[in-house]
Amino acid sequence: MNYSSFLALGTNIEPRRQHLYQALHRLRVHDEIVILKQSSIYQTAPVGYTNQDDFLNMVIKIKTTLSPEKLLDVCQSIEHQLGRKREIRFGPRTIDLDVLLYNQENKKTERLIIPHPRMHERAFVLIPLNEIAPDMPLPNGQRTVSELVAELPDSDIKDVRRWTQNDLANE
Ligand code: AMP
Repeated sequence: MNYSSFLALGTNIEPRRQHLYQALHRLRVHDEIVILKQSSIYQTAPVGYTNQDDFLNMVIKIKTTLSPEKLLDVCQSIEHQLGRKREIRFGPRTIDLDVLLYNQENKKTERLIIPHPRMHERAFVLIPLNEIAPDMPLPNGQRTVSELVAELPDSDIKDVRRWTQNDLANE
């Protein structure tokens, strides 16, 4: 497995924990994906479209032989299998899977932008990512994840609360 990638998972429709675990399970059983690290689960206030329930979010590090596009295909097929309906942009979802980073690459196609274009400013991505890769520099800017977290406004940080310890033994 040559490539390393970080994925963000989010859900705000119950059973939220189940949705995360089901998505993790589907990633874990994929032949071309190995999960290397996973953050705790965080409960976060919605951003953008705020008239919706709180999210559970987490970030995982994987290694894979899939290309970025194939990895996105897998993510979208899991979203589909878990019954995600795209009704409101940034609105409620059973599961959202985003490709945050892929091997320090920069990529921009019609369906895939890497690094994920909004990850640098999203506390619900950066805080879980900081738990598993604080010293990793992001492509381009050369700033590390922990440096980006340090720049987040306090108001954003307080909206992201650890919901479980990093203990998925009873998954
Ligand atoms: P969302 O509704 O937030 O899940 O956005 C999904 C859309 O974003 C899809 O049409 C994807 O093709 C596109 N997209 C672009 N870059 C990425 C990325 N890095 N990870 C996931 N989806 C992406």
